[in-house]
Amino acid sequence: MSHEGIRIVSAEEAQREAGQEQERLPVEAVTPAKIRVMKTEGTGVEIDWKDGHRSVWNFAWLRNACPCATCHEEREKTGRRVGEARPKPQSLLTMYEAPPRPVEVTPVGKYALKFKWNDGHEAGIYSWDYLRRVCHCDECLAKGRVL
Ligand SMILES: [Zn+2]
Ligand SMILES: [Zn+2]
Repeated sequence: MSHEGIRIVSAEEAQREAGQEQERLPVEAVTPAKIRVMKTEGTGVEIDWKDGHRSVWNFAWLRNACPCATCHEEREKTGRRVGEARPKPQSLLTMYEAPPRPVEVTPVGKYALKFKWNDGHEAGIYSWDYLRRVCHCDECLAKGRVL
């Protein structure tokens, strides 16, 4: 009997098929030792990881790196990289757009942060694993690790 017709695709396998095979990161690399969300200051998020690494993102970058399916698809379609801003519309009547900042930041269990942004969007769950992978410090950029 053949089971070839049956395919259960895990999230991991789906990623692999999308050509985004990723090394598994060590536990200390995806466990925050200290998290600073500078919501009042409106600057961004800093995470010190258990392995001693430090990641810093500003809020605009994080908004443009939203990992939800809608934002992910939109980036794929428009060829934008994770964290890259949308191109400004070429209109003379450009409306002022407030820079992205969260109105609410809530922890999701012990594994993620959820942002409610000032544009109303709140579908993205930023897991520690995701955040570590999108660390864009010089060291990580040099390794080409940023998604
Ligand atoms: Zn999103
Ligand atoms: Zn880094």
